[in-house]
Amino acid sequence: VSAASSEDKPGSGKRVAIVGSGVSGLAAAYKLKSHGVDVKVFESEGRIGGRLRSISRNDLIWDEGANTMTESEADVQNLLDDLDLREKQQYPLSQHKRYIVRNGMPVLIPTNPIGLIQSSILSTQSKIRIILEPFLWKKKNAPERPEDCAHESVGRFFERHFGREVVDYLIDPFVAGTSAADPESLSMQHYFPELWNLEQRFGSIIAGGIQSQFSARKEKRGDIRGSPEKGKRPLGSFSFEGGMQTLANRLCEKLGKDNLKLQSKVLSLCYSHDGKTSSENWSLVVASDKRHSRESSFDAVIMTAPLSNVKEMKITRRGIPFPLNFIPEVIYMPLSVIITTFKKENVKRPLEGFGVLVPSKEQNSGLRTLGTLFSSVMFPDRAPRDIYLYTTFIGGSRNSELAKASMDELKKIVTSDLNMLLGAEGEPTFVNHYYWSKGFPLYGQNYESVLKAIKKMEEELPGFFYAGNHKGGISVGKAISSGCQAADLVISYLNSASGEKGH
Ligand code: FAD
Repeated sequence: VSAASSEDKPGSGKRVAIVGSGVSGLAAAYKLKSHGVDVKVFESEGRIGGRLRSISRNDLIWDEGANTMTESEADVQNLLDDLDLREKQQYPLSQHKRYIVRNGMPVLIPTNPIGLIQSSILSTQSKIRIILEPFLWKKKNAPERPEDCAHESVGRFFERHFGREVVDYLIDPFVAGTSAADPESLSMQHYFPELWNLEQRFGSIIAGGIQSQFSARKEKRGDIRGSPEKGKRPLGSFSFEGGMQTLANRLCEKLGKDNLKLQSKVLSLCYSHDGKTSSENWSLVVASDKRHSRESSFDAVIMTAPLSNVKEMKITRRGIPFPLNFIPEVIYMPLSVIITTFKKENVKRPLEGFGVLVPSKEQNSGLRTLGTLFSSVMFPDRAPRDIYLYTTFIGGSRNSELAKASMDELKKIVTSDLNMLLGAEGEPTFVNHYYWSKGFPLYGQNYESVLKAIKKMEEELPGFFYAGNHKGGISVGKAISSGCQAADLVISYLNSASGEKGH
């Protein structure tokens, strides 16, 4: 792309404002810039990255936001290639060893059918139910009324297919570990759209999963022939040297500092199409250092701020206020991230692998954390050789009040849980804490109305596009994809707008 002349670039001479420098905003800005568009990213904080937040201090490196990501989306694969980030990618050591607590002790999560049969994580009854699922769930058993499917919770869906124990000991810790939510609050259709679709198509999610993996592999074999490099990459989660922030920093370098305005909170947006020109219609009022300034002449806007922040903004369309009261209240999961280090000699039962998740039920065993990542086991360069660095999560829907607790209280909880799970003895040698009051948006029963509100803004405000983790998935990969898709829509919009002008 960079080799193309400015005439080849469809967006040349156009200006686009991007609100938010999280990974979705930065990816959108990068894609637009590659197409010759003049971009300006406005970020309310004094740093870039949003929920990517790596800290490097005292010979330690840790992440207070996302810890790893995957590259299932083509947009992510392309971005990592374009950014020359391949040599900085770090794959966790023994990443497939992940643990769930049962009766107060970590148990390895089985990764294949034989492992499942041998595992002590589920009772024999639940194992039989899993094995029989493809026979019990023919297509005709799926709920008939579409509204029953559309509003079903994650918990209810998995309970129908596999029984309650699977929900309590596999699904509950998994959703707590990926979004700090609980299975009963999440909407199946929106949180696990792929699995939801498998039921619609095949009835059984195991049979459907096997069939679609088989066809995906067949397809992939075709792709690999075309692109030998991509086929060789290890699968699974990864980070980067220096942590996830490296991705945001590289995007920022490529964008150029001049295209980024930190400590610039967007307060209002104004669309003022006067009927004469179809371009440069957008202006923004931005608060920086207690001063308000107007930034004018943008052809389009990509909004990536959380919807709760958008709801506080003022938008006017052709001089008339555009009230945002149709945006529903989004529920957010509060979360504390606690970093602790222990001398290796003081951890009596260290585990190799990715981390351990704690099911809600295990609160009966006295555990109060949601889970812990074995950060320095995964990435040995994150701490000196004689030290273990752990990243622990507390709060979410399970314990929303506890997320706000003082550092002292959180430290006590983490120390007690790690003592029980790993035999970590004594006090941690280092503690750090970060509190996210709005860690993850909940893809709950009202999520349909969130999507409707986003659609309404996009339809009624010409040149306004929304991207980020409130739309289409909460992972880093999905946020990148959403940013790239918004950039594509902006490019088509700009092309059609300049076409109109010529007429
Ligand atoms: P954000 O990163 O939230 O960016 C939005 C930006 O908009 C912010 O920088 C904000 O300051 C800015 N903003 C807000 N209002 C305004 C305004 N008025 N004007 C200007 N700027 C504004 N995902 C994974 O895939 N793997 C993980 O391991 C993982 N772990 C996570 C752990 C934690 C603790 C958290 C909180 C999230 C985690 N996630 C993980 C989710 C993932 O990090 C996010 O979904 C993703 O980073 C969101 O990117 P975004 O660009 O959509 O939003």
